[in-house]
Amino acid sequence: MTAMNDLALDVTRVRRDFPILERQVHGKPLVYLDNAATSQTPRQVIETLDHYYRHYNANIHRGLHTLADEATAAYEQTRDSVRDFINAADRREIIFTGGTTEAINLVANSWGRANLKPGDEILISQLEHHSNIVPWQLLAEQRELVIRVIPVDEQGALDMSAYRDLFTERTRLVAVNHISNAFGTINPVREMAAIAHAHRALILVDGAQAVPHAPVDVRHIDADFYAFSAHKVYGPTGVGVLYGKAELLEAMPPWQGGGEMIRTVSFDAGTTYAAIPHKFEAGTPPIAEVIAMGRALAWVDDIGIAMIGAWEQKLLRHATERMMRIDGLRILGTAPHKAGVISFVVDGAHAQDIGLLIDQLGVAVRTGNHCAQPLLQHFGVEATCRASFAAYNTLEEIDIFVEALERVIGMVR
Ligand code: PMP
Repeated sequence: MTAMNDLALDVTRVRRDFPILERQVHGKPLVYLDNAATSQTPRQVIETLDHYYRHYNANIHRGLHTLADEATAAYEQTRDSVRDFINAADRREIIFTGGTTEAINLVANSWGRANLKPGDEILISQLEHHSNIVPWQLLAEQRELVIRVIPVDEQGALDMSAYRDLFTERTRLVAVNHISNAFGTINPVREMAAIAHAHRALILVDGAQAVPHAPVDVRHIDADFYAFSAHKVYGPTGVGVLYGKAELLEAMPPWQGGGEMIRTVSFDAGTTYAAIPHKFEAGTPPIAEVIAMGRALAWVDDIGIAMIGAWEQKLLRHATERMMRIDGLRILGTAPHKAGVISFVVDGAHAQDIGLLIDQLGVAVRTGNHCAQPLLQHFGVEATCRASFAAYNTLEEIDIFVEALERVIGMVR
């Protein structure tokens, strides 16, 4: 894509890259507002997958033939692209994983098992996705750890003074999302990292919802670990990234064993492991998907992540203003710093009914607990509807959504 003008994102041009936006749902033009679950895929990424399988499908790192060389080069090139995208210091700090969930499980199983002792404490927030809760609970059971929860205020922002007070001599790790998938709250992760480090604790940041919507600089944040998924940032499913500081990754034991992660294997002399990043990439990785993730990040770069974020803020403001006028509708998550996510409930209407009926009008929103049951329980609800925005959404789509919502609410009440 050629350069956009400096002032606003050219959404018409952006939309042209997404073939799926041409489809209809129940005879209506698709209005896709479930981007926090997964984003749609531009044709450049689809073409990258197609090109890989047509021209250079081969296993990487092990062949001497041309196809293997080409696949290896493209795969390793993505490591450089990711390094650039999140401003890591060193390409060896970029580990390809199956996604955010696998990245967090890697840290829990490798760093956690090697470093945590009974009675050690982990701080996680009330806002976390299950994938940044359950791996720590599993580890806590095995290692007799203590999990403490950073509370949220009534707007869904983290209570920073409570956060400071939760640290003890035994706090070893803070695991927190950068942006909440359920409420859109943007957490002050840089400040949180500084506080964690002052207490000699590490910080893992779940960036699944941040990388698609805001510039991310892991060195500026001073994150020890940072995780994200390709499928939420215009890339394919099944692949993601764990960033870790090199000295931490070097000291960590392997998590999964298999091909590619070893230096030597012997029954008699034992097995030695490859250097990072390969130590953490056992087996054949999702090669095509890694390469296509690189293309997705290049696509984002062409538009500009700051431009995307600013556009989504405009969508958020417009949608919030219109939705606040709907009688009986309550938005959950009204923190001053929010990304383009609106979670809401409506008096006298089940979230599920709204989701099903609004789909009949061509509008895709998410309903349920958003893999954040502790957060919803805290706010006394079991489910919400959630609309979440991406670069290709338009102000007109927000209007269609709000009008559809008003119709649906009228039907179910
Ligand atoms: N963390 C957050 C904040 C998320 O939004 C998600 C996906 N909904 C995840 C983690 C898990 O990502 P994945 O399913 O791609 O591993």
